[in-house]
Amino acid sequence: MQKQYLMTPGPTPVPAEVLLAQARPMIHHRTPDFSAILMEAVAGLKVIFQTQASDVLIFSCSGTGAMESAFANCFCAGDTVIVARNGKFGDRMVQIAKVYGLSVVDLSYEWTETVKPADIERALAENPAARSVVVVQSETSSGVLNDVEAIGAIVRERHDCVFIVDSITGIGAVPCKTDEWGLDVVMTGSQKGLMLPPGLAALTVSPKAWKAYERSTLPKYYFDWMKYKKNLEKETTPFTPPVSLIIGLTEAIRMMLDEGIENIIERHSTLAEATRRGCEALGMKLFAPPEGRGSAVTPVWVPDGIDGKAIVKIMKNKYGVTIAGGQDDYAGRIFRVGHLGYFGPFDIITTLAALEMTLAELGYDFERGSGIKAAEAVFMGEDR
Ligand SMILES: *Cc1c(COP(=O)(O)O)cnc(C)c1O
Repeated sequence: MQKQYLMTPGPTPVPAEVLLAQARPMIHHRTPDFSAILMEAVAGLKVIFQTQASDVLIFSCSGTGAMESAFANCFCAGDTVIVARNGKFGDRMVQIAKVYGLSVVDLSYEWTETVKPADIERALAENPAARSVVVVQSETSSGVLNDVEAIGAIVRERHDCVFIVDSITGIGAVPCKTDEWGLDVVMTGSQKGLMLPPGLAALTVSPKAWKAYERSTLPKYYFDWMKYKKNLEKETTPFTPPVSLIIGLTEAIRMMLDEGIENIIERHSTLAEATRRGCEALGMKLFAPPEGRGSAVTPVWVPDGIDGKAIVKIMKNKYGVTIAGGQDDYAGRIFRVGHLGYFGPFDIITTLAALEMTLAELGYDFERGSGIKAAEAVFMGEDR
């Protein structure tokens, strides 16, 4: 037997309480029993998304389904949308927009850069007909955190332009204030900060986004937002929902609300800081820029002369610690430690210890123990 540690930014570890809730015998979804569970889940998600003004809709799909639904429900073919991207999931937003025949104003950045609010302001001035600004808050591929609060303040001034935010690894890790920041559509996925298995996604729809919906003519059926809203008014779902996942979701929400949103964000901030300090103490460089580091995942440059894919492989095969490699251009050049959701200090200590043993095996020159020592200092409050 080898004990396993899942240190990736999705899927993430699922607490035993949630797994047990999901193991309950199946119930029928057209029953008062399920309605009560569904309404508890929706009410809890509203707290987590920090919204009262928006509707929260739940879908059976991974996060990408929610991303696609945002385009299908807000636009007409030929509409102009401004997509700011600095990673793989921003790239996906552009791909989906193009599939739906939208005219994309493509604000492309390096993966090591943040999206600049001033560029959004300029793009809106140059494209007064733009119907949307689309930004990934927490870029999982790069660990970069984009300032959706500042961008929200800009887009909010435009009455027929909706702000679509992928917060799939933002929710449950970093502040994401849907109402206060003027975010019209905010999405997340179950296998990230919600501490659930994959298969469920949720998003918020603001009154402004509903106006975009009323105007939109793009084809939609399974992901037609209005079907979900109408059915939710009757405390049910348009189609068979992922019953067990929604039962698990109510349990995860109970755990999250018990801890409190502010405390969850503080915990993630500490986990991220310890991971960063640990890796820097080992002489490695962080990938994300200091002004835009999220708390969901820590990407780190692989040291010169070391095989990045071997780091991931040895950590998994020899020590049972699964971390993520780099994606696209950064495959083999960076590795990523996820700490989003059900994580505590010893997950980080364990990972840094496995990383040290792996780096030692690969012939990297560093002081053994310095990574975990730096992380311990953060957890002990000596270093902040
Ligand atoms: C995980 C993730 C998604 C969605 O990916 P799925 O595999 O469809 O769940 C989208 N955006 C970001 C930033 C993500 O981390």
